Amino acid sequence: MKSHATEAEIQAVVRMVEDLDYNAHIIRGVERTVVACVGDERGEKHQLTHLESVAGVERVMPVVRSFKLASREVRPEGSRIKVGNAEIGGPRITVIAGPCAVESEAQIEAAADAVKAAGAHALRGGAFKPRTSPYSFQGMEEEGLVLLERAGRRVGLPVVTEIMDPHDIDLVAEHSDMLQVGARNAQNFSLLRRLGRIKKPVLLKRGMSMKLEEFMMAAEYILSEGNPNVVLCERGIRTFETATRNTLDLNAVPLLKAWTHLPVIVDPSHGTGIYSLVAPMALAAIAAGADGLLIEVHPTPESALSDGPQQLKPSRFADLMKALKPLAEAVGRTL
Ligand code: PEP
Ligand code: MN
Repeated sequence: MKSHATEAEIQAVVRMVEDLDYNAHIIRGVERTVVACVGDERGEKHQLTHLESVAGVERVMPVVRSFKLASREVRPEGSRIKVGNAEIGGPRITVIAGPCAVESEAQIEAAADAVKAAGAHALRGGAFKPRTSPYSFQGMEEEGLVLLERAGRRVGLPVVTEIMDPHDIDLVAEHSDMLQVGARNAQNFSLLRRLGRIKKPVLLKRGMSMKLEEFMMAAEYILSEGNPNVVLCERGIRTFETATRNTLDLNAVPLLKAWTHLPVIVDPSHGTGIYSLVAPMALAAIAAGADGLLIEVHPTPESALSDGPQQLKPSRFADLMKALKPLAEAVGRTL
């Protein structure tokens, strides 16, 4: 739409688009509004181009990429996603930190104090854990959600936690500010679709053998159902290398930033699996242009019920936050 298009003109265009059997998604940018038209392109209809003569319309252009709504073309300035009192995708680097899993009230409260004191912007902690083995700790479930919410509220941080089952969406959304889709569920399309029907932001992790194109299409599933609040997370992929838990693919950061307006954050904890590699790879991620980080921090990693070897103890996390500050400034961001 033209930059001065009125709301009535935008709504009129939406109705015309829907009359042509396309779905219309209104994407409101700082400069201008885009009406994204998604539909079946087969057949003889190229009628959308006729809309160019309608009041308020500046230009009708095809989005070449298969991920229509996530494509940077529709929002060149990038999306900023609000997560409670934090924001991902703006000039500030957003750090989400906390334990792999909520294990007890004392543990999550200690983690909340530690990450808040070090300057994190959001608290994480899994209540539903997707474990490779059915015999491993599966999480505290609803009780864990309540403990996480309480800890976050006490220290003034929004909370991020994983959603595994579509049936739990209302419950998890009630207790959290952002829902994380884990690597093992990144192509669980029924889960993604259901998350598209809520308004809470979604942190979508890359599946461990997912190509970036497939990652984008997974995000598109959420966007196409009407939830625009999606943040992508590179967390490492499976390669022939076994010295690290995964291979953190930092190529993904500048590539995704070019392809999509969605913010991109990096999880060097799962990306490496080794605590001593977390800080260097966190710094590398910010240097590569990431909008934020997901870092596992545990008050006592040696006694963690999951992912102990990769979790930072509070003093190491505080050191990382100190090291990040000048780096963020060097790449034109703040922390
Ligand atoms: C996690 O964040 O604790 C987690 C399970 O991550 P991923 O899905 O990336 O393995
Ligand atoms: Mn973990």
